[in-house]
Order: sequence, then C-alpha cells, then structure tokens
Amino acid sequence: MNIPLAYFLYRVAWASLDLIFPPICGGCGKSGSRWCKDCQQRVQHMVEPVCEVCGISLEDSHLCPDCQRARPHYRILRSWSVFEDPVRNALHKLKYRRDVALGDALAAQLVEFMVGLKWPAEIIVPVPLGKKRSQERGYNQVSLIARPLALATGMAFAPDALSRVRETRSQVGLSKMERRANVSGAFQARTAHVSGRCVLLMDDVATTGSTLSSCAETLYGAGARDVFALTVSRAMAHHGLDSV
Ligand SMILES: [Zn+2]
Ligand SMILES: [Zn+2]
Repeated sequence: MNIPLAYFLYRVAWASLDLIFPPICGGCGKSGSRWCKDCQQRVQHMVEPVCEVCGISLEDSHLCPDCQRARPHYRILRSWSVFEDPVRNALHKLKYRRDVALGDALAAQLVEFMVGLKWPAEIIVPVPLGKKRSQERGYNQVSLIARPLALATGMAFAPDALSRVRETRSQVGLSKMERRANVSGAFQARTAHVSGRCVLLMDDVATTGSTLSSCAETLYGAGARDVFALTVSRAMAHHGLDSV
C-alpha cells in the first residue's frame, strides 16, 4: 500500500514530538511508546466465524439470530477488537483526556484491518456526539481515530456529515429495544456530503449496533449509495448492557 504524503508527514511529526516528550502507552501506562508492543499483542480480536452482517462471533450459521429477525440498516459492521483491556483502557483515555497522539497510534493499527476488509468506501463519517456532550467535552473522540485513518487510506473525512437532531440519553443500562427507540430518528445527514457516496461510518464501541443502524438509515435517507460500519471495539454479551 502506498502511504499518502500527508499521512507520512503527520506520522513524522508525532515521531519527532516523541523524541522531545517520551510518550506513555495508552493501554498499560508504560513509558516509551503510545501503544506498546505488549499491548499490541494483548489486543483480543473477534473470533471467526462472525455474523456476515453485524460481525459478532458465531458458532456456525451465517447470520446471528438478531440479524435474522431484523436486518440492521448498515450493510456490514466489523470491529477491530473485543472491548477488553488494553483497548478498553485506551478508548477511555481517548474519551476523557483528548489524547490525540493515542488516536493516531490506534488508527495506525486499524489501517491494515480496514484495508483488509476491501470495502469500496470513499468517505469516513464519525458517529456524532450530542450538542450537550460535544460542548462539555469539546471534541469527538471518534474523530481522533477517524481523521488519521482517513489520511492513511486517502479517504475523505466528513466529521459534519451527520449530526444529532435531539439529545439522546446514554445507552448504558437500556435493553436492546430501548436502545433502538432511544436513537431512532435522532440523526440528520447533510445530503451534499453523502449523496451518491459509499460511506464508512465509524464509532469507538458497538454494543447492540442500534446507534450505527440508526445513523445508516439516516445516511441512506440522504442518498448514500452504501453504508459500511467500523468500530474500534465490540462489546460482547458478557459485558452486559449496563456497562457500555
Ligand atoms: Zn502498553
Ligand atoms: Zn448479526
């Protein structure tokens, strides 16, 4: 794969900064690198086979029971890792400490995974935060990964393509049905950004996938040609709906 010049320079800038301020690993806190070799090896990936649509691990069949009952709106969802440490720890840091450099380190790991999926996506759209949370936090943690990922793959980055039209409560503690209702109709898309384009929708963690499905429905409604969804992590059944 050819590395776009802009991404090369972006990475060189971070590497130079590391010489001046030695970084700390976002997974384990050890000093020396932003995402150390140990943590790289400790990342748990989804066990194959996975559901063709939503990507959760399965025993054998092609579609999980949920997707058989009601297909989500996105075409395919895939996650780079299981929502366990060290990735869980890193995502937490990203969310609450605006660690831009850690976002870059995680994106570098995701590039290979994403390229391997061979999706024909042209534009990366992060799942947006609500206005209130956006004002409190001042940034969208998903963009910290999505932006360098777009640079690395030469895709366009469209952080404003989706927005929330109403505040939704946190999905934590809600049942699958409640989650779906909570995010239904909560988004709007800018037609000019997405019409006729194949979109890669991105989020940090997927649990039931209802947020991604609702975003995908909105994107299709605004004329998107296709919507694929990618998350850094996937929360599994044993994580429960009360934690994520
Ligand atoms: Zn580490
Ligand atoms: Zn499924």
